[in-house]
Amino acid sequence: MTAVAPRLGLFGGTFDPPHNAHVALARNAIAELGLDKLYILPTGQPWHRGQAPSAAVHRVAMARLAFEDVTGAVVDARETLRPGATYTADTLQELRAEHPAAQWHLLIGVDQALAFTQWRRWQELVAHAIICIAQRDHSTPASEVFSSKFGSKSQIRLLQTPWMPVSATDIRQRVAHGLGVSHLVPQAVARYIVDHSLYQITQTDHLNRPIDDH
Ligand code: ATP
Repeated sequence: MTAVAPRLGLFGGTFDPPHNAHVALARNAIAELGLDKLYILPTGQPWHRGQAPSAAVHRVAMARLAFEDVTGAVVDARETLRPGATYTADTLQELRAEHPAAQWHLLIGVDQALAFTQWRRWQELVAHAIICIAQRDHSTPASEVFSSKFGSKSQIRLLQTPWMPVSATDIRQRVAHGLGVSHLVPQAVARYIVDHSLYQITQTDHLNRPIDDH
């Protein structure tokens, strides 16, 4: 009898903070793709992000809280322990060595799909994983990304997960302006943000703000 290959997934992100759309995407993808396990991978130093993210220790802690009730999801901090920039290709290479028989699924939002060919060694990702794309909003149909970026031969799948217009950028800005975010992040994450005073505007932020002379 031949053993069935485990179906495994990777879902990387800055998770600064993890929010309800991340959790919904993970939960739906596990069910839709029949995943045995989904690795949630907070990035170390993201190579494509201008501003430094919050400390990895906070992002990993929040990810553990956010995904704790998602059966099959496991937060894996390996990328935060790696010196230098984080590349998903390195992570997939490591994970493939750990689970040589697995069938891999890489979960990304449509914004990342649009930038995908700028990712380091993206061809390796396409060669060794099914790229599973989630819609983020009405603006860019994931189906267009599918055909324009990768062609019909690549293993691409469009996730059925309903789109949720939530972004970590918006959440950080809301917190900085004293607005509530409890409808946008899991309760435990909202509490963590308050307890650790994350995303507050600092004195330097105030000084760096453009002066409105009207
Ligand atoms: P930021 O606003 O700081 O860029 P973000 O909300 O995009 O953050 P990330 O941690 O950068 O969150 O995202 C991790 C992954 O989740 C990416 O592949 C991203 O495309 C996807 N993602 C984030 N928000 C959504 C959403 N609302 N719907 C679908 N996918 C999403």
